Amino acid sequence: MGAVLVDPAGRIVARAGNRTRELADPTGHAEILAIRSACAALGSERLPGHDLYVTLEPCPMCASAISQARIARLYYGAGDPKSGGIAQGPRIFAHSQSHHVPEVYDGIGAGEAERLLKAFFLGRRG
Ligand SMILES: [Zn+2]
Repeated sequence: MGAVLVDPAGRIVARAGNRTRELADPTGHAEILAIRSACAALGSERLPGHDLYVTLEPCPMCASAISQARIARLYYGAGDPKSGGIAQGPRIFAHSQSHHVPEVYDGIGAGEAERLLKAFFLGRRG
């Protein structure tokens, strides 16, 4: 599980993997860690115009954080029937209380998203 955040200029501003065990933190999902890192660097609680790329469909907690952060576009690689919260389960973005809904692109298998995620995981292995 990995997440990469790209700013409106196309620069990678944060990348993260799941670290719940390592951090002893149930909120330590890749998306949350990437959002925290990008927000801290920007000095803002919002990330307008940013794109988030993740390997798997985000869970309900992360979907809500993506909405709170006002992320513009979400790309994910595969649906997650067990824990996903966007195309299944609670479908967070479909709720009227979701005040910001990103553009969602699921099933990404080619192009920029794949390139970014591959670069991210190759970087971690190296
Ligand atoms: Zn999550």
